[in-house]
Amino acid sequence: MVDDRMAGEWKARTKAVHEGTRRSGYGEVSEAIFLTQGFVYPSAEAAEARFRELGEDEFIYARYGNPTVRMLEERMAALEGAEDAFATASGMAAVHAALTAPLRAGDRVVAARALFGSCLYILNDLLARFGVEVELVDGADNAAWRAALSRPAKLVFFESVANPTLELVDIAEVSRLARGAGALVVVDNTFATGVLSRPLALGADVVIYSATKHVDGQGRCLGGVVLASRDFIRGEIEPFMKHTGASMSPFSAWVMLKGLETLDLRVRAQAANAEALAGALRGHEKLARLIWPGLADFPQADLAARQMDHGGTMLTLDVKGGKAGAFRFLNALRLFTITNNLGDAKSLVTHPATTTHQRLSDAERAALGITPGMVRMSLGLEDAGDLIADVTRALGAV
Ligand SMILES: *Cc1c(COP(=O)(O)O)cnc(C)c1O
Repeated sequence: MVDDRMAGEWKARTKAVHEGTRRSGYGEVSEAIFLTQGFVYPSAEAAEARFRELGEDEFIYARYGNPTVRMLEERMAALEGAEDAFATASGMAAVHAALTAPLRAGDRVVAARALFGSCLYILNDLLARFGVEVELVDGADNAAWRAALSRPAKLVFFESVANPTLELVDIAEVSRLARGAGALVVVDNTFATGVLSRPLALGADVVIYSATKHVDGQGRCLGGVVLASRDFIRGEIEPFMKHTGASMSPFSAWVMLKGLETLDLRVRAQAANAEALAGALRGHEKLARLIWPGLADFPQADLAARQMDHGGTMLTLDVKGGKAGAFRFLNALRLFTITNNLGDAKSLVTHPATTTHQRLSDAERAALGITPGMVRMSLGLEDAGDLIADVTRALGAV
């Protein structure tokens, strides 16, 4: 095995193509898929030694680690500026590990209210059962964070860009407040992507991704990753993952590795499409609201400029006429596919109130700012002019 890991001097786009590559004796150009559960030991003594202490390039069992998965972890860590990473079977497995591994009964968690539904399940249903106290706050309100973090807490959790309102959390300020409360800061950076936002540089301790979204970027595999200090990954996440089993498959890791090679190009092109569509839709008569973090009238435009390189690949509309108006719009679209995924090369569209957030009460949806006319759009790689034509024509049907 030839180790092709690179020195730290290269830029992100270079690392995205090369970092972490481990070549076998065959000298393959493209990363190999080591589709193997186990690894052989040349002798009984070698097996004993490996179980006693695992060397750099040694593996025991794919639940613990695998060369293809390790390539992905090292490449993700290099791109994020993290010391280490652990890949998981899905984004939710990453959230589950990052939240559950460090918490004990009696610990207190402060989290933003606008969370992915499954994240709320882990906090409010699962962890609460084991005696973890959870307080939810309005993520966009620094005063609410300050009040909640005036008492000690063990962990703070939020999405850097909330779904589907695209509200931002002030990562630097909340991390500072969390430090004062003694809390570990865990950020779900899935919507913003590591291309446009760097939570670790702003003071966060742990970053997680659903790699299912922009990292794969072509709608094929589930995956997740936890990125943090070596101490946290090896001390907390590795034992939890080894012994609970939601490890990433080598095949999925390979798909994600190839995804990383083009992540920067894709995210920037998709974000440029979102910017073009936002520009074309400004002041549109069929829209009650147009939300894109890069717009000058975005309520947190200053914060967006400070902590994101660009407004991102996601755009949310509030179509006039409520649910009926939104449904007419969705059904009239030809290029945008109705689905609940995001971050794909194909442009995708979701009606949150009746799908991803269907289970919430009207009052809960209203508290999160999710209106009946709200439509979440994930911009793909198609021609910007075609996307604008499709959306403006479909709005004509409203
Ligand atoms: C999709 C998503 C998840 C869950 O990821 P899966 O890969 O579907 O398990 C978590 N957080 C955010 C923000 C997501 O968009």
